[in-house]
Amino acid sequence: MTEQGSPRQQGNNLDPWYHHYAQRTSGLAASEVRALFAVASRPEVVSLAGGMPYVAALPEDLVVGAMDRVMREQGPVALQYGSGQGVPALREQILEVMALEGISGSADDVIVTTGSQHALELFSKLFIDPGDVVLAEGPSYVTAMVIFRSYQAEVDHVPMDEHGMIPQALREHIARLKAAGRRVKFLYTVPTFHNPAGVTLSWERRLEILEIARQNDILVLEDNPYGLLYFGEKPPAAMRSVERDGVVYLGTFSKTLAPGFRVGWALAPHAIREKLILANEAAVLSPSSFSQLVISEYLRDADWRGQIDTFRGVYRERKEAMISALEEYLPELSWTNPNGGFYVWLTLPPHLDSKAMLPRAVTELVAYTPGTAFYGNGSGAQNIRLSFCYPTPENIKVGVRRLANVINGEQDL
Ligand code: PMP
Repeated sequence: MTEQGSPRQQGNNLDPWYHHYAQRTSGLAASEVRALFAVASRPEVVSLAGGMPYVAALPEDLVVGAMDRVMREQGPVALQYGSGQGVPALREQILEVMALEGISGSADDVIVTTGSQHALELFSKLFIDPGDVVLAEGPSYVTAMVIFRSYQAEVDHVPMDEHGMIPQALREHIARLKAAGRRVKFLYTVPTFHNPAGVTLSWERRLEILEIARQNDILVLEDNPYGLLYFGEKPPAAMRSVERDGVVYLGTFSKTLAPGFRVGWALAPHAIREKLILANEAAVLSPSSFSQLVISEYLRDADWRGQIDTFRGVYRERKEAMISALEEYLPELSWTNPNGGFYVWLTLPPHLDSKAMLPRAVTELVAYTPGTAFYGNGSGAQNIRLSFCYPTPENIKVGVRRLANVINGEQDL
């Protein structure tokens, strides 16, 4: 019991500790959209909202076999704490994975993290001071922005088009920020099969943006979870393939294997890598030994390249289902047509508001993510992110048809 007049009474009714939180947590509020998603997870709702990989396309025995061998052959190591940098054998194998995207490096500069989400957190902890500016595409990956804001950075969105971030716009944003005396700490980019925009940064622009970053002494944080999930031609090589010293590269097994392992990694310039290891140790002591050893065994023994091909086929079919449903039911609208990854970015007629429309969509049994979620500045009301990764092609068609009914109904209002 608290006594009358005690400081605890200064909290609010829901949370007596309200006044005790650190200032940086003010951005950690659950969005209104999140509440709707609880409803949207009902089985009768077609959810085009989440970004969940379709793990059912991963044969169970591949994983069970790897787990079984790890426990039989390396049980005591798998169940023990490990190195803060990650299992050495896995770090070597990660080099093979990155080589598929044109990257060469040393296993010594790879840090295994608890998903690439945790690498984003560690990187932000190392680099962001309150009031710093982080440059990012507009729109940008929502949960990276939550982290940047939790370290009290301001996210400045650089516009993009169908070829990714626009270099001239980047130049202008940097010049404006410098003139205003602001400190730009880094550029966060998802250059390949962007989340949420679905577009890919062209090769020429990769080079140009790296040059701009070099000239302005800005570190680049390249986040590449989807690069190997291409549907046709291979995308351009990673930005890290041309620039070693100015790029921290993030990869993950979440989309090419399964997110439940929670294993991702950073490849960093040597000096930064040392700090990242220390931050990783401080945060988690060591990433999961068990998950790392199972993945290492899977990469050693299974046809993992063939499995990535299987995932490509699954997602290609779903993307095609979504595009043909959009052509059939919403031919007057425009959308991006991604060559890989999980997402289509839809543009609504100007008088519609994607966030305001969402409750009606959920009533009509379809869910999506409103574009406003992917900006820190209120933009995006005219956009919707549609994910095609999880629902079956048949359900995607049903979902887009329902969405078209909602959009057309709003227009008639
Ligand atoms: N970056 C981007 C752009 C993502 O889309 C995601 C997952 N949705 C992540 C990072 C985090 O992935 P994980 O932590 O599972 O590696």
